[in-house]
Amino acid sequence: MPGLYRDEGVVLRTIKLGEADRIVTILTQGHGKVRAVAKGVRKTTSRFGARLEPTSRVALQCYKGRELDVVTQVETLEAHRALREEYVLFTHAIPMLEAVDQVAQEREPNPALYRMLSGALRTLAERRSALVTPAFFWKLLSLEGFHPMLEGCARCAEDDVELVAFDLDEGGTLCRDCARGGGRPLSPDALDLLRRMLGGALNGVLAETPGPAAHEVEHLGIRALEHHGERRLRSTALL
Ligand SMILES: [Zn+2]
Repeated sequence: MPGLYRDEGVVLRTIKLGEADRIVTILTQGHGKVRAVAKGVRKTTSRFGARLEPTSRVALQCYKGRELDVVTQVETLEAHRALREEYVLFTHAIPMLEAVDQVAQEREPNPALYRMLSGALRTLAERRSALVTPAFFWKLLSLEGFHPMLEGCARCAEDDVELVAFDLDEGGTLCRDCARGGGRPLSPDALDLLRRMLGGALNGVLAETPGPAAHEVEHLGIRALEHHGERRLRSTALL
């Protein structure tokens, strides 16, 4: 049948459509971000309604439409119920979905982004660490081409100086002199955490108890994403 395709994906969000249907936004592995109509999902008799919830990873079959595709089959690969039902996990999962929804392009495959998101949701469900989401934000920025400069001053290029701030326009740390002209204060602990998160030490980071530095890194990551995306991340108000 022409126009039918199979893929797997993570449900980013759903909105109501009419009495019984929903429009589901899914980051797929092979077709990029897809928006599809799921018919009858809000009826209690629906075969696949409960499978199409944000954070779920599903295998699906869709019929390709001009703007909206139509979901014809869904199977759950990872339900991730805890990410929706436990408030603390929910508040950390939803901002990752929103951030991905903002950067992902419709119908443009981005397998690296898909791997990152499905991996982060699984890690959050298993390790339940408040450090997963900030690490995800910074890795997402890096994937999008905004890898921060964390060694030396991003403005004057001095590398043997104390780094005390982070500048969103420069995309990196600032020395004390340059920080007088702007930038957001960055504590030594937060800088150290950020370096380890992005420097291949994430596994060790996730074993730590999140302290004030984790919040700093998280909020700076949110501001950096908003800066580059030129849009607010609404769901981060919960963090
Ligand atoms: Zn400087």
